[in-house]
Order: sequence, then C-alpha cells, then structure tokens
Amino acid sequence: MHKILILGGGFGGIRCALDLEKKIGSKAEITLVDKNSYHLFVPALYEVASAYGLKQDPFAIRLKKTICIPYSDIFSAKKIRFIQAEIFSIDVENQKVATRGGEILDYDYMIIALGSQSSDFGVPGVKEYAFSFKSLENGLALNQKINELVFATQREGDVKSEPINPVVDFPTATKSPKEFRKIHYGVKIAVIGAGFTGIEVAAELTCCVKKFTQARGIKGRCERVLLIEAAPKILPMISDKERIVIMERLTRLGVEVTEGAAVEEVRSDYIKLKNGKTIDVDLVVWTTGVKPLDILKNLPSMSLAGNGKIVVDDSLKVAGLSNVFAAGDNVEFQDQKTGRLVPALAYVAVEQGKIAAKNILRSLKSDKLVSYNPFFDVWIAPVGGKYALAHLWGGVNVKGFWGWVIRELVDLKYMLSILPVKAAIALMWQEITLFIKND
Ligand SMILES: Cc1cc2nc3c(=O)[nH]c(=O)nc-3n(C[C@H](O)[C@H](O)[C@H](O)COP(=O)(O)OP(=O)(O)OC[C@H]3O[C@@H](n4cnc5c(N)ncnc54)[C@H](O)[C@@H]3O)c2cc1C
Repeated sequence: MHKILILGGGFGGIRCALDLEKKIGSKAEITLVDKNSYHLFVPALYEVASAYGLKQDPFAIRLKKTICIPYSDIFSAKKIRFIQAEIFSIDVENQKVATRGGEILDYDYMIIALGSQSSDFGVPGVKEYAFSFKSLENGLALNQKINELVFATQREGDVKSEPINPVVDFPTATKSPKEFRKIHYGVKIAVIGAGFTGIEVAAELTCCVKKFTQARGIKGRCERVLLIEAAPKILPMISDKERIVIMERLTRLGVEVTEGAAVEEVRSDYIKLKNGKTIDVDLVVWTTGVKPLDILKNLPSMSLAGNGKIVVDDSLKVAGLSNVFAAGDNVEFQDQKTGRLVPALAYVAVEQGKIAAKNILRSLKSDKLVSYNPFFDVWIAPVGGKYALAHLWGGVNVKGFWGWVIRELVDLKYMLSILPVKAAIALMWQEITLFIKND
C-alpha cells in the first residue's frame, strides 16, 4: 500500500488530505502531521485579538473554539491518520521525516504544506517588544494586553474628551504605574504594516478599545490607533478607487494612517521611523508579512528561491524530486500570465492542495500531471465591524454591510468544505455571535 505523508494541516494540507481520501480511501495510507491538535482558521485571528468579553471566559474556551477546528472533527469517519507532532527534519534522499519526539515516518509520496512564520524584516526590537500576529497565542496575548492597557487608563472624567489633535503627540508614558495613571491620556497602539492584515487589525482594534473603555466607564475617546506603512501607498495592488473606500472607512473609525514611513527600531514605549521621527506608543502590533519556516533551510536536496520558499514546477512538484509536492505559503510560484508571484492566501493554498492531490493520484497511475493555473484576483478586506470591501470576479466591488455578508458566506463555504454540514453551520453561528459583540 502506498504511503502518502502530508506535512502541515493548514489550508493546503487539509484540502490535499480530504481530496486524496475521497478518491483512494483505503487503497493508500494517508497520514497528516501537524504540531497542533487543531486547524487554525487564521483569517479570523483579528477577531480573537479584538474580541470583547474575554474576562467572562478566562480560559478563552469559546474564543478558541471559534478559530481552532480540531483535526478529530475534520477527519472523523475519514481514512486519514493524524499525528500530532512537530516536524524536526526532512530527509528526501531516504524518504523519511523525523519528528521532534523522535518518531521516524517514511513515505512514497509527500506534500509539504507547512505554511509560514511572521517576519520582522531584521528590524531591531520587533522580537522583544512587538506583538506578532500569526498564532492563536498571539491573538489572545494581544487581547489581554489591550485589556490591561485600558485598565491602566484613568476613570471617568479624567480622560480628555475633546477631539484628539493627530499632529500633537500624547505625553510619553512613564514606567511607574502611578505616574502612568496620572499623565496617561489614553491607549496608543501602533499597527505596523498596512497590508490586508494590518488594516483589518487596526480597524477592529478601534472597535475593541471603544468597548473596553465604555465598560470601564471612561468618557471621551481613550485610544489612538496608528497604522504605519513603509510603502508610498497602502495596498499598492488595488485600484485608487478601492484604496479611497478603505481609507475613508479607516478615517471614520479613527485610525490614523501614515504612508511612506518605514520603521527603523521598536522599543518598549516608542518606535523610531527611518525619517528620524520618534513616536511614543503603548503597544506595537507587527503585521508586515511572512517568511518561510526555518526548517526549510536545512534541506540541501530541496531547491529554494532567494526568499527561502520551495521552488516547484507547474504541477507543484518540488524541483528535482519526483515524489514530493508542495502547497500553500511555503511555495514560490510565478504566474506565467502576469509575471506576478502568487500571494500567500488561504484560498490559494486550498487550490494548490487540490492540485497536489490530483497529481499524486495521477503519479500513482503514471498519468500526465495537470498544471496549476493560479487565480488570485479576488479579495475581501474587512475594515472594522460589519463592514468589508469585496473585490469579486470581473472587478465588481461590494462594500459595507453586504461586503461583510459576502465575507461571512465565504467563511461558511470553507467550513462546509472541511466539516459536516451541521458542524460547519454551528461553528459559523458561534463565530458570528461572538465576534459581532464589539461592533
Ligand atoms: C493574521 C492573518 C490573516 C489572514 N487573513 C487571510 C484572509 O482573510 N484571507 C486569505 O485568503 N488569507 C489570509 N491569510 C493568509 C492565510 O492564512 C495563509 O495564506 C494560509 O494559512 C496558508 O495556508 P498553508 O496551508 O500554506 O499554511 P497554514 O494554514 O499556516 O498551515 C501550516 C500548518 O503547518 C503546521 N506546522 C508548521 N510548522 C510545523 C512543524 N515544524 N511541524 C508540524 N506542523 C507544523 C502549522 O501548525 C499549521 O497548521 C491571513 C494570514 C494571517 C497571518
């Protein structure tokens, strides 16, 4: 019996496993390995960071359930073996994979779908002082920190209620909690990197902080959310019209966007820009992008691109290896039609997972492999509360509440593709009822 080993149970790995199981079921041994016991639904991570009401759920059980989908639910009644283990090394010459616990797994075919990790782009202080935004732990820690910061601000009447002048910075917060309470006028959060993730995080944090401050009985505006982008414009790949829609929404929410400002250094209570300006902040959220996992660096037989991603051919077969495929964020793929690199997106990983599964089935039958034709001209940008801008097929835009509805439907479609109908609907219901609390 052929052994098929899937590394990583993210969007690419799960799709590949389920498609293979559907087509060959018990005729092959399909094993999926992931370090977690759950599939993290990353696109809703910003909702976890900004969720309101965590105090009533100190172990965050409800929150975790909304974005952590247990593999036991996804693979129940499927002929897929799941192993919870961290991949430690991959030996493609001998077709073996070692886990950190010392288990050795062998394979006839393998799919590498290990995703990516946050990148600090070498900026000093990011690792030490900034909150990254990639894992469940990151989302929960950020939520906790915001709660703490709001708690440290003054009570009703002490907070300045007149509109904030964005040109004049707040006084610097000192280290002493007493001093902090005395002179601190509000929570100042800097989100660094205005890609889709930075935008959704900054927008949603304004809603979240408002809820926290209301609950504390604080009157007037108690937060400033700064969104800082190094490029001359946010989201350079979208049209000017779309950018204006997003900017207007951010401004309405009170997010202060600065473009063309690269961060040079991050410290515990300030950030320094390359233009020499220093901004005092209470909290830095780092959302500038992702990079491939370090584990890939130790694979001498694997062809890696300059950015460290795995080089694959049109069929997603890893260059130079006949029985190893790759899918998702860890893949470098250039769209031949446009010359653009395929972006790291969940639905791209799903499509690649499907192609990898198809091509393993074809390899088993010695059939010609199919090519992956990337399509990534559809996106949805949630911008705080029940508001999103959706860019659909043919360039059609839907904004506002209906954009948000489309986003929820897309999420539901995904849940239905990996879970039984009842479980998928129940999960979406839980998500919506919990996440709209801060809108
Ligand atoms: C905050 C945020 C918001 C996003 N929002 C969107 C969005 O709205 N829409 C969209 O399309 N995309 C979005 N993305 C991008 C999207 O999440 C990724 O492109 C997608 O998750 C990639 O899928 P993947 O299968 O390649 O990797 P992942 O989904 O990251 O899965 C990789 C899996 O590998 C496992 N793993 C990693 N290392 C090891 C190891 N050593 N041993 C064992 N297991 C390991 C991980 O636990 C994980 O389960 C967002 C990303 C982030 C960070």
